[in-house]
Amino acid sequence: MNPLPIFLNFADRPCLVVGAGAVAVRKLEQLLDAGAHITVVAPQLSPAVRRWADAGRLGVKIRPFEDSDLEGQRLVIAATGNPSVNKHVFTAAEQRGIWVNVVDSPSLCSFHMPAIVRRPPITVAIGTGGAAPALAGLLRAKIEALLPGNYGLLAHLAETWRKRVQERLPRALDRRRFWQRVLAGAPAAWALRGRAVQAELALLQHLNAAAEAGPQPGSVSLVGAGPGDPGLLTLRAWAELQQADVVVHDRLVAPAILACARREAERVDVGKAAGTHTCDQTAIHRILIEGARAGKRMVRLQGGDPLLFGRGGEELQALAEAGIPVRVVPGITAALGCSAYAGIPLTHRDCAQSCVFVTGHRRKGGAPLDWARLALPQQTVVFYMGLAALPEIVRELIAHGAPATRSGALVAQGTTAEQRVAVGTLESLPALAASLSLQAPTLVIVGEVVRLRVPPEAEAADAPGLAGWIHGESGPALWRSIVHP
Ligand code: SAH
Repeated sequence: MNPLPIFLNFADRPCLVVGAGAVAVRKLEQLLDAGAHITVVAPQLSPAVRRWADAGRLGVKIRPFEDSDLEGQRLVIAATGNPSVNKHVFTAAEQRGIWVNVVDSPSLCSFHMPAIVRRPPITVAIGTGGAAPALAGLLRAKIEALLPGNYGLLAHLAETWRKRVQERLPRALDRRRFWQRVLAGAPAAWALRGRAVQAELALLQHLNAAAEAGPQPGSVSLVGAGPGDPGLLTLRAWAELQQADVVVHDRLVAPAILACARREAERVDVGKAAGTHTCDQTAIHRILIEGARAGKRMVRLQGGDPLLFGRGGEELQALAEAGIPVRVVPGITAALGCSAYAGIPLTHRDCAQSCVFVTGHRRKGGAPLDWARLALPQQTVVFYMGLAALPEIVRELIAHGAPATRSGALVAQGTTAEQRVAVGTLESLPALAASLSLQAPTLVIVGEVVRLRVPPEAEAADAPGLAGWIHGESGPALWRSIVHP
């Protein structure tokens, strides 16, 4: 179970510390810092505790712990060095519903005290759930080095101006944009250099400009999410996700990619499985247009590239007609991602001088595919959405002159940890797909390049992608693909 990180306002709240040695002193420093109303109970006091007691900063009971000491307490820390006393304090506190921490005994804790980095009023807390306090200390040292001392100044600046910004920018959306600009721009740069006056002037300039400009129009970004591995997101796609107010996404977009979006961003699933339109296209246009008109930053996130075999083109047109500012952020399309992760080159000077991306799923009454051209040798043909129509695709290619022995591959759930690759010939592909029960999304690659396949062997554990950095993992296990030659 994950711990719940919260910052308690402990000013004048009663708490008890059992024990008064060096360990207790460390905890007492933090409790004093928080302004707690502290009682220490211990048969003997260390000099530090006595000094605090003499100065009236805490109360003391110079005797062993008694259950009645817990009365009226909100929180208790046991640091006696005597396991049976510690255990007793834990049980008694638990019975009374009082938060309890027995120092260095994770199993006798209903809360842990994190390692902290302070840049008042900012506090960064690092917890390991009691598992590895030394590791928390190491991380603290890293974060200490990472955060310039003047972050506190920046936070104070924001605090001082908060109310005035609220008055001058009544719309929450405009305020958020304003703070984004301040925290990424000149005011922050000055504050982090310790130049409070310049920081304040720069902030005021920003504020005047924002107030004069009035409510800002929203926008839409059509963003490619790539084929599955979050490491294949572009930096720009990632930045868009970080700034989004609303993320309107397809079913194909993996949860790990959605997790890259701003935590507070609203997520709207307009996913379409082939044939089942959970949300029709005009409804998607309406969501995007209405959101942008309300001043929101809308991110329309689509699998692969937004303008390849998606409805990105239609969305682009609809938005332009509605006069909404729109930008497109390309993504790695499935053909590129899947071929790379399956180890299949899409062109090769010996056997494929061109590569065609074609849809295997056509609208009723839509233009027929040029099968004679697709059946030609010396090229690679990649079918998107071709799994359901695979028998028909194979039949047409062969009927139009392709040899039944031409190589082909199926890549299912490409670039994800569930990637499966099946390699065969035109003749064998339909049966392979059926026997392996391949599911969408699956890509069909037809051409002699498939013979050149070099299955990646080792998991690239030492090379985490962007996602690895974001999520603190070493990237997905890409190479666990099941190969059926
Ligand atoms: N815009 C997307 C394609 C959308 S069409 C892009 O540029 O990739 C959906 C089809 O793409 C699926 O039917 C499948 O053929 C292919 N596809 C998308 N992601 C895939 C993946 N991870 N593995 C295999 N095929 C995928």
